[in-house]
Amino acid sequence: MDNLNTGRAGNDVGGGTDFFGTGNPSDLAKTYGTPLYVYSEVILRQRCRELTRLVTYGKFKVNYSAKANTNLSLLRIIREEGLLVDAMSPGEIFIELKAGFRPEEILFISNNVSAEEMRYAVKTGVTVSVDSVSQLEQFGKMFRGSKVAIRINPGVGAGHHEKVITGGKNTKFGVDPVYLDEVQRTLSQYNLHLAGINQHIGSLFMTPETYLEAAGLLLDIADHFPDLDFVDFGGGFGIPYHKQDGEVRLDLKDLGNRLQRLIDERIVASGKHLTVKVEPGRYTVAECGILLGRVHSVKMNGGKKYIGTDIGFNVLARPVLYDAYHEIEVYGVENRIDSKREPVTVVGNICETGDVLAKDRILPEVMEGDVLGILDAGAYGMVMSSNYNCRLRPAEVLINREGKPVLIRRHDTLEDLVRHFDDLES
Ligand SMILES: *Cc1c(COP(=O)(O)O)cnc(C)c1O
Repeated sequence: MDNLNTGRAGNDVGGGTDFFGTGNPSDLAKTYGTPLYVYSEVILRQRCRELTRLVTYGKFKVNYSAKANTNLSLLRIIREEGLLVDAMSPGEIFIELKAGFRPEEILFISNNVSAEEMRYAVKTGVTVSVDSVSQLEQFGKMFRGSKVAIRINPGVGAGHHEKVITGGKNTKFGVDPVYLDEVQRTLSQYNLHLAGINQHIGSLFMTPETYLEAAGLLLDIADHFPDLDFVDFGGGFGIPYHKQDGEVRLDLKDLGNRLQRLIDERIVASGKHLTVKVEPGRYTVAECGILLGRVHSVKMNGGKKYIGTDIGFNVLARPVLYDAYHEIEVYGVENRIDSKREPVTVVGNICETGDVLAKDRILPEVMEGDVLGILDAGAYGMVMSSNYNCRLRPAEVLINREGKPVLIRRHDTLEDLVRHFDDLES
């Protein structure tokens, strides 16, 4: 019974980790309510260590891209593991400081930000990376003589969906290298020190070729700026969302070896002292998270079987946003010995036709009251949740290293829904 209760989450995801520790999904769902994000501290630390050991180069740093998951407790663990951090907004800077990161450990990768947002970062002591010559100019006017980083668009992209490819001709991101002369001119006009150049070509690559190609291109650009402190090759490291179909993992060892070779040839051999950074978000946190939800209704409609759950797209937006695939486990099948497998469509409780979590998915027979586990939900899950339909955002629980569940964020209350109106009514 324990076996059934922990399902695959109990082994493959964490490489032998008992995901739910001393508890089981049904008990967690009962204790904390559903929907509920559950994280494994053991798996999170494991992923952090894989990343910090990616290469042997002494001046190598992993910047966790915090937009994937900004839970304070997870940020603290990631910091303990020696990662630095990226921020996409003043809000992320704020929460990262709360988690204990020092300003110099934070890189603000800005995109179309206001003067106030730049000022907040600079005042805090955080390095800003600008995303256009236009913003470089604004930065220079405000902070003449200071340091800045620039996001480059290397002209190649990668990713699992058009919406997440962030390098190449068809995206809003980065400075096109054809404008490097303008960059140079603007830097000297405002006496700015270019501390680093960074890029991020897209999200979720499973083979390293494009990433390495782009890294080489960034190093070509680095050659134009002899006083750089760092180059940052970006994130996008993929995780296998189709484990049940035997999807193979990104070969991190191969990526690391080839990256190390590139560093040796292009940085060490030329006597440079550049810090090399990478910015993985998803790889750090995706697999340490499972989203639990409860089945409230099972029905036939137009010849299709619908499994109605409390996991609306306000809780997990990825399927609706990107047609993303998440494997699903059914907890509660222990009394159904001969449970048959059948295609079902798993939906949420939001009043929108598009509120579909999984279409025509083959699952063991599901019944009202069962708990479902949505796997690999640690990245871009909770952070994208909303109060749409005035639904309450879920709680988050960490299974700590002792295997014990700890509440690391409470769920919303009904009062939270009116909090922002409080001061307006008298
Ligand atoms: C989102 C983002 C990342 C992280 O992407 P992942 O696919 O989660 O690794 C890294 N860098 C930048 C600039 C980003 O916007």
